[in-house]
Amino acid sequence: MAIMDNIERKIAAGSPVSRHEAATLFLEADDTTLQRLATQVRARFHKETEATYLIMAIVNYTNICVAKCDYCSFFRLPHDKEGYLLTTEQVCQKIDQMVQHGGKLVGFNGGFHPKLRIDDYAKLFTEVRARYPRLEFYEMTVAEFMFSCKVSKVTYDEGAAKLAASGTRWVTGGGAEIMDNNFRKRHSPGKFTVEDYYNAQEAILGAGMGSTATMVIGFDETLEERLNHLESLRTFQDRVGGTLASFLCWTYKPWNNEFGGEEIKTAEYLRWLAVSRIYLHNMRNIRTSVLTKNEDALLGLRFGANDFDLPTEDEVTQKAGATISHDFEHLLTAARNMGFKTLERDAWPVRNWQ
Ligand code: SF4
Repeated sequence: MAIMDNIERKIAAGSPVSRHEAATLFLEADDTTLQRLATQVRARFHKETEATYLIMAIVNYTNICVAKCDYCSFFRLPHDKEGYLLTTEQVCQKIDQMVQHGGKLVGFNGGFHPKLRIDDYAKLFTEVRARYPRLEFYEMTVAEFMFSCKVSKVTYDEGAAKLAASGTRWVTGGGAEIMDNNFRKRHSPGKFTVEDYYNAQEAILGAGMGSTATMVIGFDETLEERLNHLESLRTFQDRVGGTLASFLCWTYKPWNNEFGGEEIKTAEYLRWLAVSRIYLHNMRNIRTSVLTKNEDALLGLRFGANDFDLPTEDEVTQKAGATISHDFEHLLTAARNMGFKTLERDAWPVRNWQ
């Protein structure tokens, strides 16, 4: 087939594939071809037989959120009796539990809390960082950052400058789901537009902090909407000179929320991971999601991923049906049995991770 020959030639030459070619790969290439091509692109950046990992926790400091995304199983509205906002002490107790598991990185993730201003976040993170100088922190997601700037009545540049001045190193790309405005209107009209999200990302990077890219698949998104996500991300990554440290894709969990549905099969997740690795030629680190796919996620190492987390907790995905195992040795053995040397890494530095 001429188009597949062309894709093979482009990948061998290190050239980016087109959007149409990415769609063809997803719809028509067999698994073996996808694995081979994704591994070829992965090998531009990483040794084929090595995979890196990090033990980490996602600390959900509040479940209060006014965005009301229909796919969310986690949020509670203000005044709901199940709503909570953790104290600094309670946050630290969770971090202590992660440290006991050998964790090195804490990702904070909450909701669109209508009373939390940028200064409140900066104060919490400053206190926590002072107690754990050896840990790294992904302090907010871009989505939370955007809402907090709105509540604080500051621009993204001003909000990012405040966080950076208080010592924040990372505001990561969580909350992106599918970066397509039609998708967003259907499921999370109160969250953000695609253009606004990238403006916020740019402000974060411009203030000298690090960030990442994420994607969640398996709602009702069309292939075109998924491709819009990858295309806008690749364009943005070019615009910021390859600064985003990684791309993590995970799968929607359909339990305990308004939207419901069925979870997509692992085979589809792996195929999309491979297409992402091939299309995102400017993204060094592609990560596979143990958080939502457990041991199956490790198969992603054969579909272009080079790195994974071993999470100790995350209420957001667990409320939606994810299960977390603390038997890390079992997971690492599974990766080793697939032929990968597993290397525990430190958190990446903000900029010179390449
Ligand atoms: S996904 Fe995030 S922003 Fe949307 S309702 Fe849940 S907590 Fe709020």
